[in-house]
Amino acid sequence: MAEKIEKKIPLTKKQIQELIKKYPSTFYVYDEKAIRANARKMYRAFAWMPGFKNYFAVKALPNPFIMKILKDEGMGADCSSLPELLLAEEVDITGEEIMFTSNDTPIEEFEKAKELGAVINLDDINHIPFLEKTAGLPELICFRYNPGPARVGNAIIGDPKEAKYGFTKSQLFEGYRMLKESGVKRFGLHTMVASNELKEEYFVETAKMLFELVVEIKEKLGIQIEFINLGGGIGIPYKPDQSPIDLDVISKGIKEEYQNIIIKNGIKELKIVMECGRFITGPYGYLVSKVRHLKHIYKDYVGIDACMANLMRPALYGSYHHITVVGKEKANPTHKYDVTGSLCENNDKFAIDRMLPEIERGDIIVIHDTGAHGHAMGFNYNGKLRSAELLIREDGSIVEIRRAETKDDYFATLNFKKLKAFEP
Ligand SMILES: *Cc1c(COP(=O)(O)O)cnc(C)c1O
Repeated sequence: MAEKIEKKIPLTKKQIQELIKKYPSTFYVYDEKAIRANARKMYRAFAWMPGFKNYFAVKALPNPFIMKILKDEGMGADCSSLPELLLAEEVDITGEEIMFTSNDTPIEEFEKAKELGAVINLDDINHIPFLEKTAGLPELICFRYNPGPARVGNAIIGDPKEAKYGFTKSQLFEGYRMLKESGVKRFGLHTMVASNELKEEYFVETAKMLFELVVEIKEKLGIQIEFINLGGGIGIPYKPDQSPIDLDVISKGIKEEYQNIIIKNGIKELKIVMECGRFITGPYGYLVSKVRHLKHIYKDYVGIDACMANLMRPALYGSYHHITVVGKEKANPTHKYDVTGSLCENNDKFAIDRMLPEIERGDIIVIHDTGAHGHAMGFNYNGKLRSAELLIREDGSIVEIRRAETKDDYFATLNFKKLKAFEP
């Protein structure tokens, strides 16, 4: 296990106050320097892996400025929808730098993925004839494997046999045989069985499972798998008492399995890739908010100017996100609060029964570890608008990488002229 890390903010109170003057609260801030350092750490830890690449899961933080930074660090893009493919194209991530891992996929998306030369990762055996008849089979195809009862999952992704994703084992063999007969020449193998997983062994076991499959596919079908994709799912320590995952332990474990299974069985070198999102940007994003009201009824409430439309994870999964009251970092956590937003939903709470220093109106609250699956999951229920996203550059300057939504954005799909003429 790696050392625990203290939950710090890469800005001073004064800097945040200045920012709030320019970009009214609430907003997200991301830390470029920390994102780059983390990306480099990952590439160093996995440097022995042939052709190692992380395809950043775009859904975690679908901001093209961030994608451009990650491309600069050698990452590709893992896309699962047409807009995500278009974002990749916009930042010149094309060809096999794109992994297209979708499910229940419409034709247009396969067509765009094929046009961009993306690696197409099929979720279902029935997509083989579907693709053949529509976009056409590409020269390289990957399958998503669902091990079902062979593996246990975790809370976010659930039990693999209850998960909608992927091929069963027998479908996998049938699928590769079909592709081979159709003239496909290059093959990949993918799985993703965990999300926000903090146990290193989990990723080693996943690699072992895929290496064994690679050998079996070679023996039974004479097919050489060109790469395995271990999926995303490397977790981050949301709670202060959790430790970050140790990439070196994963790396060493996978290396042993690679030698024992791939090398020993005389299989040709194969690439090992991943598609992590959360691990790449999660800890380096902060949701900055101001305390609007304090309320004391049966419990004590802190009402802030962010709500679950800005950050849905606590309401959706009951997730813990650490909270700092800016300027009160050293103060004793003497008060127990529920920290809430303004949505008319009682689960609009960022924290329940959280011990914090005494809070006053106007205090600045920072919600940690919101750099992935944060802004991205935003929505407009109750007429709430999504916030701006800011980036702290390596030289300390701040760039707005997405403006806040306005009421005009919210009304953009309505036609008020047509409404005037509309007779009820
Ligand atoms: C969501 C997702 C990821 C990224 O998951 P993280 O937990 O952010 O690493 C990767 N691959 C697929 C197919 C996904 O659905």
